[in-house]
Amino acid sequence: MTHVITSLCLRDSGCVEVCPVECIVPGKPVEQWPLYYIDPDTCIDCGACVPECPFSAIFPEDEVPSAYTARGGELINQVGLSGHYEGKNHHGQPVVLNSVRALEAGEVVDLTPAIAQNAEYFKSGPGYSAND
Ligand code: SF4
Ligand code: SF4
Repeated sequence: MTHVITSLCLRDSGCVEVCPVECIVPGKPVEQWPLYYIDPDTCIDCGACVPECPFSAIFPEDEVPSAYTARGGELINQVGLSGHYEGKNHHGQPVVLNSVRALEAGEVVDLTPAIAQNAEYFKSGPGYSAND
């Protein structure tokens, strides 16, 4: 199995440094791969990354919600959305995204497409790159 980063990810980067096998990388280019991604072949399912995420974006693969009920106001980050977000990551560096949308309270969202997208990133996407 693996853990999976879902579209609740806003590229905070806090999960990266706690991973003992260094299998979490930022998606690049961000317009095409807007999340951080976990290499499913390397992840050892230790769970250390889960509590580090301020947006609760990380789940064990078999617990990724197909019907995530929004609290309201949280952002999803997906290719094709056109909302704008500016924040800071775990290291105080700027994060700018143009692929977000705020969820309404009670709105139900399927987060499972992230499972295939994470796998795809390492199979036929950029995967790891020299400056990760
Ligand atoms: S800590 Fe959460 S928001 Fe930050 S990169 Fe990791 S999954 Fe994304
Ligand atoms: S579950 Fe553990 S090994 Fe897998 S990505 Fe998270 S920190 Fe890394």
